[in-house]
Order: sequence, then C-alpha cells, then structure tokens
Amino acid sequence: MNSQVAIDGPAASGKTAVGRAVSRTLKWKFLDTGIMYRAATRNVLDLGVSLKNDSRIIEVVKKTSIDLDDSSDSERILINGKDKTDTLKTPEIDRVVSIISKIPDVRKELVNQQRTIAKRGPIVMVGRDIGSVVLPDAHVRLYLDANVEIRAERRYREQVLTKPKLSLEQIKMDLDNRDRIDRERNDSPLEIHDFYVVIETSSMTLSEVITKVTDICKSTF
Ligand code: C5P
Repeated sequence: MNSQVAIDGPAASGKTAVGRAVSRTLKWKFLDTGIMYRAATRNVLDLGVSLKNDSRIIEVVKKTSIDLDDSSDSERILINGKDKTDTLKTPEIDRVVSIISKIPDVRKELVNQQRTIAKRGPIVMVGRDIGSVVLPDAHVRLYLDANVEIRAERRYREQVLTKPKLSLEQIKMDLDNRDRIDRERNDSPLEIHDFYVVIETSSMTLSEVITKVTDICKSTF
C-alpha cells in the first residue's frame, strides 16, 4: 500500500499543525509544501525580481535550492544554504506568494521536488494540490476546511513575530485574497474534489482534528 497521506485546504485551515502531529504519531516524514512556495518567493523578492517578469522568476526558482532540515524539533529552512526560516511566514510573503505560485513552470519545478522527496519513504504532505496533482495515488486524501472568520481568528491569535500586529480585518482580507488567487488560477487550483474526505473544522479544536485525522490514517494503514 502507498504510505502517503495528502492534506489540502485553504490558508490557515490547520493543515500544517495537523499534518505535522499526525506524521509524528505515524513516525513518517512530513512535508509542508507551502513553505517551498514561500522559500521560492523569498528568493525572488531578495533578488529584487519584478513580479511581472515571469521568465526571470522561473529562472530564479529553478536555481533556488531549498533544504528542509527537520532533524530537530524546530524545523529550519535553508535557501541556497542560508537559514531563512524566520523570514517566510511574514505578511510580506503572504501578500505575494500566490502570485508566484500560479506560474505553471514554478509549480512544475516544485512539484518535481515534492515527488522526489515523497519517493524517500512514507510521508504526510500538506498543500493545495497534493491529493489532486502531486500524490494522486495517496491512500488518504483529506481536505481541511473552515470558514474564513474562524481561520482569520486562529491566525490573529498565532501572531508572535509580526510587529506591528495585523488587525483581524486585515488578516481576513489577506486570507480572502490569497484563497481567491489560489482558487482561480488555471494550473492546479485549490478545489474540493469528490475523492477528498472533507473535514469541516470550524467548530473543532486542533486536538479534535488531529485525533480525527489520526483515526482515519490508523484505520487505513
Ligand atoms: O500553506 P501556505 O499558506 O504556507 O502556502 C502559501 C502559498 O503557497 C499558498 O497561498 C499557495 O499560493 C501556495 N501553495 C501552492 N500549492 C501548494 C502549497 C502552497 O500553490 N501545494
């Protein structure tokens, strides 16, 4: 059996926290593909490339080496050998990552890297197109959903590094905007397909979602 769990869903739906916890229980590898799109975006911004220059963006992304070091509890992300972990989950990246992620050749490059990582062994992978495109043969394909108000509140409470803190309204607008671009893009848009097991988490706690997903995995594998 294919030891793969795919978890998709909109921004701030809890995919990463749930996926990481489930991977620890199963003792499988974990890959947050969103962090790869964020790392690619970081490098594009650091090099001052115009967001309108698709061919230059593609060139930069192809040359960007993204290493995920999960040997300790706090996962570190190295971009071209430099630790950039603390610069990836910022409002600046949130605002542009979807623009870069909709470029088909950017996706092609990162999807290839994600499939290569998946070949190394059992894995829980989270993103927007994992069940639909990256790992269509995964035995468990989940879609975590929650209404945008709840997702914005969760993000609002999580703000630690952001200074000044964003307002709840600003976070909600940013999430709405990112989801709209992710859903409307031509290449592998975020979509709820029939094959997903959909978990509506608006009225669930994080630990309830983790338990539910773990139970689904344990009954499958
Ligand atoms: O999951 P996270 O919110 O960190 O993802 C950041 C962005 O990366 C998403 O808004 C989306 O544009 C892009 N992404 C994607 N496909 C994935 C994972 C993330 O397009 N599999």
